[in-house]
Amino acid sequence: MSDQNKPVECQNCDWKGTEDQVEELQDVSERVGPGETMPVGECPKCGAVAHYMDESDPKTPSPALLEAISDLEAILEDMPEVEPDAEDYDDMEGASSVGIDVGRYETGQAIKPVLTKLRALAGFPTSA
Ligand SMILES: [Zn+2]
Repeated sequence: MSDQNKPVECQNCDWKGTEDQVEELQDVSERVGPGETMPVGECPKCGAVAHYMDESDPKTPSPALLEAISDLEAILEDMPEVEPDAEDYDDMEGASSVGIDVGRYETGQAIKPVLTKLRALAGFPTSA
């Protein structure tokens, strides 16, 4: 027999245990669709299907993801934090550069939620 102590978790409740603790899976054909991963067995707590714990947890995010995050952070660093004063639009001489700053500010605001999502994907602690 193979290792019976691989970590298993329930897909329905919060039960976690090892392979030798799950019940034998009943009605396999009704409960496992084509293409689905074969469950290890039934959760002893609620009877739902239990699978091996995903050991590819994003504890170590992919280098490509980290690179994308750091690229976005670099872009954001260059963006104005505060929306430029719209009153400056009246000043024709300053208008074009203020317009660029407003555009950059808006782009920065648009990037922020994307960066937040990417950071969450990478498993970074979520902070404001
Ligand atoms: Zn369960």
